[in-house]
Amino acid sequence: MNIITEVEVEDNAPYDESLHGFLLRNQLLYSPSSKPFGVISLKGGWVDSPFVNKEAEHIFRTLPDHELLEIIDIKEVVNNVGNQLFDCATSYTNKISNVFFSNRNSTGTYKTSGPIVFCELCIKESIKRFGYGYFKNIWSFYSYCIIHNEPLKELPLKGFYSSLSWVADVMGGNTPEASFQVQDTKKPSFLSWDDPFAAYFFPIKASQCVFNFFAKWVSTNESSFNNDLYRVISRKEMLKYCRFVSVKKDFSSKSKYYLTKVYMLLKHFNQNLLDKFFEQHVEVVKVQIGPRKQGVLRELITKRKEESCSICKFKSCSLRGRKDLEVIENYDRNIKYLVSNSYSLLRIVLQQDPLSPFGSDLWSPMELEVISKD
Ligand SMILES: [Zn+2]
Ligand SMILES: [Zn+2]
Repeated sequence: MNIITEVEVEDNAPYDESLHGFLLRNQLLYSPSSKPFGVISLKGGWVDSPFVNKEAEHIFRTLPDHELLEIIDIKEVVNNVGNQLFDCATSYTNKISNVFFSNRNSTGTYKTSGPIVFCELCIKESIKRFGYGYFKNIWSFYSYCIIHNEPLKELPLKGFYSSLSWVADVMGGNTPEASFQVQDTKKPSFLSWDDPFAAYFFPIKASQCVFNFFAKWVSTNESSFNNDLYRVISRKEMLKYCRFVSVKKDFSSKSKYYLTKVYMLLKHFNQNLLDKFFEQHVEVVKVQIGPRKQGVLRELITKRKEESCSICKFKSCSLRGRKDLEVIENYDRNIKYLVSNSYSLLRIVLQQDPLSPFGSDLWSPMELEVISKD
């Protein structure tokens, strides 16, 4: 066995390290001869969408997919975005491959997202605590350190090699002479919701086949919908979006949003009809997701009962080509089950944002209140 594959990324890791910092620190430590062009740009700043170059990928294979995902998403607040009924249930894990296993030979031609900044005092403290200095995620939001109330230091953009050696100095507890005080006052921005639908999170999402079929079903059954529904939305517009989806195969976010609205209104005005639709045509499958299909990265996704996903006709269907689908039969919809089988829901639970089920059936969304943690 290759000795290199046995190298472990240490367990005693800081929880607030930036993705750039994490990639760089581990590459310098375990693959010092590889040039981290996917992290530091040719100009000498941080790369906009950082990634690990091919020669260093082996370092990160020892970590499970979900841990890699959390390292990437340290900046991210999980909310309804990408978590609506017709959103793809698996696409949020694509970034694991893009960052860690993209198999790219870096050329250094990547866009710079900003200069490299740091707080000298934080670095000194982390050396005491962990034995090394690391770059904190929060520094990208402010011009001063919110712990020490001191201005951050910035490295000049003097090219890749200068920055690489300065960064190594910084992590070792030294402040490069070339560094200077950060000038501009950045203000952190927080989330705000204007849209009432933004409050919903769907722990179980529909595959594209179900989306397409739902649109067809709505247009063939709309005459039996409760008339009150058409006081809220226009029948004409509803049918227009159904046609977009079922005929034109337009799975844009606008169509997704509109059909989710129809679904929510049916829950309100025609619950029985909606229940029948799901009973007759839809089933839930449990799927292992992420590049290596391992561990806790799982989602519950709906598929059409009579369709085989391995030959799905929709190119971007989340279930396309999958043979490992485990159909879930009559289970209790309880939060514990959902949390252990929907990783997106687990992430929200770990964020400790208040969640409450909107309905008692399997397909119901949850009301979500995202609290900004400042
Ligand atoms: Zn500090
Ligand atoms: Zn499909």
